[in-house]
Amino acid sequence: MRKQILVVGGGYVGLYAARGLRKLIRSGEAEVTIVDPRGYMTYQPFLAEAAAGAIEPRHVVAPLNRVLRGAKVLTGKVTHVDHDRRVATFQPVKGRPYEVAYDIVVMAAGSITRGLPIKGLAEHAVGFKTVGEAVHLRNHVLAQLAAAASTDDPEVRRRALTFVVVGGGFAGVEALAEMQGLADDTLRYHPGIAREELSWTLAEATGGILPELHESLGEWTAEALRKRGVDVRLNAPIVSAENGVATLSDGTTRDAGTIVWAAGGRPNPLAAASGFPVDRIGRIRATEYLTVDGLPDAFAAGDGAAVPDLTNPGAFTAPNAQHAVRQAKLLARNLVAYVRGRKLKAYRHAYLGSVAGLGHHQGVAQVYRIKLTGFLGWLAHRAYHLAWVPTFNHKAKVLADWTLAMFFRREAVQLGGLEHPETDFQEALAAAPAQAQAGRAA
Ligand SMILES: Cc1cc2nc3c(=O)[nH]c(=O)nc-3n(C[C@H](O)[C@H](O)[C@H](O)COP(=O)(O)OP(=O)(O)OC[C@H]3O[C@@H](n4cnc5c(N)ncnc54)[C@H](O)[C@@H]3O)c2cc1C
Repeated sequence: MRKQILVVGGGYVGLYAARGLRKLIRSGEAEVTIVDPRGYMTYQPFLAEAAAGAIEPRHVVAPLNRVLRGAKVLTGKVTHVDHDRRVATFQPVKGRPYEVAYDIVVMAAGSITRGLPIKGLAEHAVGFKTVGEAVHLRNHVLAQLAAAASTDDPEVRRRALTFVVVGGGFAGVEALAEMQGLADDTLRYHPGIAREELSWTLAEATGGILPELHESLGEWTAEALRKRGVDVRLNAPIVSAENGVATLSDGTTRDAGTIVWAAGGRPNPLAAASGFPVDRIGRIRATEYLTVDGLPDAFAAGDGAAVPDLTNPGAFTAPNAQHAVRQAKLLARNLVAYVRGRKLKAYRHAYLGSVAGLGHHQGVAQVYRIKLTGFLGWLAHRAYHLAWVPTFNHKAKVLADWTLAMFFRREAVQLGGLEHPETDFQEALAAAPAQAQAGRAA
């Protein structure tokens, strides 16, 4: 009988595992269902470039039903997995929840933004994990510059030109660097604003930035950002964002019109809430074969799983795209082996190093022992990430965006109205009776 394989989450692990399965499984062996609340996979390493307008946001996401033809794609959330009964509760985007039965489950719901109980954070900060947040940020930065150029109130102007990014990992550093690039480019259309008026602060809780790279590259990056006028604050976690004023533990305060929260993620709570075995921080306890420890018919990988790192005994693989993609590919092969009753293979991958883009044609890269900074680091960042963009179609579109950017200035138009398209219509409706009455009175 055909096995029903349910993949929970359509990110790196879900998409690559389902795609691998589709290639490897024989018709009649298994049917794949993949569930994701958005219906597309987000290529997160390019979110910063999407936020800066260097890449079109649609090009950093891959629609699951297009990439995974042959698989059943359900758009909505899995809210609970009852593994004893082999059913998942599925909440579609519209309509009532219902149960989806399966024989084998793949837990690939990744991580969620890590929240901390900091006053004012929820009201005044924006996260940086989704394409929606990236689009919002781009519109927001452009709107802040326009607001600063148009106000006659110095306080309003100063606030609009103050930007704080919390978190010195990939996400925070790249977001700040690319946002600054966007703002710098846009200043040519606001001749009344001097570059020195813009205030950029990177707040990091530990003693260094880019912990994913060699310490010297983190130091190089901090120095490069400082030369660009960024106030890089180390050992300075944010302690309050009340009234939009970012207060850091070292006493620094910034009355900021923009606070970006990029202080890391935590494993998706779905697994723990569903009774899967999890470790201290909520990652699913996985084996090196990418099965869930002690549970038959259950697999897990990626940011939400604690997968033993066989190249570093006692440790677990880091939550990054490099491991997620490679684990997904092996996961597909192991699922096929499992369905066929064959031996599974263990996951072993020695970390290759990493890359980060800093806008302004600068970047840092570490590939094995080779360290690159500046323009070469930037080229390595682009080449590395382009290679991992899923589908040829998306690779070509990203490459086209970059090529066009070499010949034309980036668009500096803010389309924040897209986020609330109902506003104009509602204003028009509200004004209509008044106009009609005024017309009758006249
Ligand atoms: C801004 C940013 C920049 C990054 N840059 C880099 C980088 O330069 N290099 C690098 O190696 N790594 C980078 N990463 C990390 C990398 O993107 C992750 O390690 C990788 O995405 C993990 O893959 P995953 O499949 O485990 O999770 P994800 O890719 O996050 O996928 C999880 C999926 O599960 C879905 N989901 C969530 N809840 C549910 C639910 N209840 N039901 C169904 N589906 C659900 C989500 O919608 C999502 O699509 C970056 C991350 C971010 C946020």
